[in-house]
Amino acid sequence: MRWDDDTSNGERRRCIFPRSVKNKLFMGQKGKCAYCGRLHRIRYFEIDHKYPFSRGGGNEIGNLQLLCTPCNMRKGIQSDEEFRDRYWRLLPRDGSIPDPPVSQEAFSEETEYTRASYEVRRIYFERFANARRKRFAHARGGGGSGCGFALAVWAVVIIVVCIVIAFAI
Ligand SMILES: [Zn+2]
Repeated sequence: MRWDDDTSNGERRRCIFPRSVKNKLFMGQKGKCAYCGRLHRIRYFEIDHKYPFSRGGGNEIGNLQLLCTPCNMRKGIQSDEEFRDRYWRLLPRDGSIPDPPVSQEAFSEETEYTRASYEVRRIYFERFANARRKRFAHARGGGGSGCGFALAVWAVVIIVVCIVIAFAI
């Protein structure tokens, strides 16, 4: 079985890439990490599936890139596209390797920033959704049930008054 042909019989398996694959990627990226752009020795690079293997990505060379360990950990199970979308402020839009290199601190700051903005949006949308839900509930049946409740209260009051009057007489 060829290393890049693992889907031929419908069976998918991780494979040990031959040295030549890593060398080829290394040459293609000029020894730089695809995300942070830092120069490393080849042995410090990890072969990453742009579209994660765990999500159905293949072992073909077009789906592979070399990342340094921190970048690979940061990427996790995100696809290359998702990663670049998330860090669009730091990474070139055309998918090329950033120059000058991006520091891991910059990635961390961007993560915090993204998380904060997600949180703000989440809170905003939750409030908005709740307000809308309340308004709908009120318009739909809130008045009706309120009316029923008022009737029940009045019925109790009248019964109590009757009983009091009956006892008084
Ligand atoms: Zn990196």
